[in-house]
Amino acid sequence: MNVLISACLLGVNCRYNGKRTEMEGLGGLMEKYTLIPVCPETLGGMPTPREPSEIRDGRVFSQSGRDVTDFYERGAAETLRLAQMYGCTYAVMKERSPSCGSGRIHDGSFSGALTDGDGVCAAALKAAGITVLGESEIYKLP
Ligand code: SF4
Repeated sequence: MNVLISACLLGVNCRYNGKRTEMEGLGGLMEKYTLIPVCPETLGGMPTPREPSEIRDGRVFSQSGRDVTDFYERGAAETLRLAQMYGCTYAVMKERSPSCGSGRIHDGSFSGALTDGDGVCAAALKAAGITVLGESEIYKLP
């Protein structure tokens, strides 16, 4: 089964700060599934490293106040295209990200506070019928 996955969870240094994320259980996941790595923000044209961004009032803003929504939407569209091309019905996406986060994301204040909501890409994947799980939810994969 093909499963879409945030590339930073695989150890790709594509996060805003040029670093990656450590993920528990990656070995088992790679044994059981064919993982299709994506990074919506870089697919949308953002550089690495880049300023951190958060969602506020339905738009995405960098910490210095630049509206970067167009990059995020482009990245979400390209990611969805890859998910559909590879027939992915499940995606494992980095929690709390303004692109990949699902259910809980940063609240737009750059204070570390969280709020209910989805990142731009996670929302697009869900709207297309793809089940989006965070890295702490991989036990829910069939
Ligand atoms: Fe990871 Fe998603 Fe951010 Fe790319 S956009 S660095 S895959 S959380």
